[in-house]
Amino acid sequence: MRVRRDSAVGEQDPDGGRKTAEATKGTPVKEEPTARAKGAAEEKPEPAGEAAAGGTGSAGKTAPAEKAAAGPAGKKKAAARKPASAGRATAGKSAPVRRARAAEKPLAAPEKGTAAVKDAPARTVAGPAGNESRTALVRRARRINRELAEVYPYAHPELDFENPFQLVVATVLSAQTTDLRVNQTTPALFAKYPTPEDLAAANPEEVEEILRPTGFFRAKTKSVIGLSKVLVEEFGGEVPGRLEDLVKLPGVGRKTAFVVLGNAFGRPGITVDTHFQRLVRRWRWTEETDPDKIEAAVGALFPKSDWTDLSHHVIWHGRRICHARKPACGACPIAPLCPAYGEGETDPEKAKKLLKYEKGGFPGQRLKPPQAYLDAGGRPAPPLGAG
Ligand code: SF4
Repeated sequence: MRVRRDSAVGEQDPDGGRKTAEATKGTPVKEEPTARAKGAAEEKPEPAGEAAAGGTGSAGKTAPAEKAAAGPAGKKKAAARKPASAGRATAGKSAPVRRARAAEKPLAAPEKGTAAVKDAPARTVAGPAGNESRTALVRRARRINRELAEVYPYAHPELDFENPFQLVVATVLSAQTTDLRVNQTTPALFAKYPTPEDLAAANPEEVEEILRPTGFFRAKTKSVIGLSKVLVEEFGGEVPGRLEDLVKLPGVGRKTAFVVLGNAFGRPGITVDTHFQRLVRRWRWTEETDPDKIEAAVGALFPKSDWTDLSHHVIWHGRRICHARKPACGACPIAPLCPAYGEGETDPEKAKKLLKYEKGGFPGQRLKPPQAYLDAGGRPAPPLGAG
């Protein structure tokens, strides 16, 4: 069993914006019936942590040779320190797959940088999905993932955790709140109840008091105590590493299960959260609206080995740049590949002000982020009560 101790899950706004806002705009995430029936927490619109497994994108590893020449450290710093220039750094690069250029032709956005984005007509030609062939779609989708891997080489789950048990609990707690809030809350929880046995035997009222800051604390208390009991009674106190077992846990649906599988067990999975749903539709990767169908449709565009990192890249982009209500198109590094360019602010200076987290110069959500994130200029989130 492989455990990624440097990562967690999640996805919210730095301003504390709750998932509810986006969930109400986009299609609500639906968990599998099995999980829905069991888990109070995941029945809420935007459940558990959505970031997916994995660390730096494998897609980044397949970046074109000319990009690799710059060296990973330099790229990371550039991405972190110059948010709005990310587009300049990536969009202007030649396509890693030559024939991918054909897929770019019908795009509305300019081919280079945010400055060019400013002057480009929003939709001079039809979007790529209108008459895009399957082959062109696959190439464009994979190129977007490669570009995002360049922009977020340090992408990781945004829930702090040290073992699979902590991850599954934190992911359940992340429903309807920010990962930051969860990360600020779980240290006290895991200090008092470090194992499934401890939490299974806990006094619910005491757990509720600890979880109060995360909202829906009674339902969440019920879920985490309930799943701890199932772990103890049916799985020997260990978090199972199979999807079919994970979804049997109270509060755990497919999305949460994939988060755990990807991040704690290194097993590829696509995490279809609210960001993922919104972005893949903007990119016209699929017209599906059901999370399970989106998962299948997008999964078919990529090799399985890319799934976990793809989830990270998409979710990070959704949190930082391609927001639900005000996407920062003018500062977007994949504008040339996006049929929805122009849906948000296209003025580069105005778009820069919309950037969040490290792209906007703010702390991330993890109190204990991976070293790669810190090396790239990212900052840890403050502990609870630190202001
Ligand atoms: S809609 Fe999103 S992905 Fe497309 S250009 Fe705007 S910010 Fe970028």
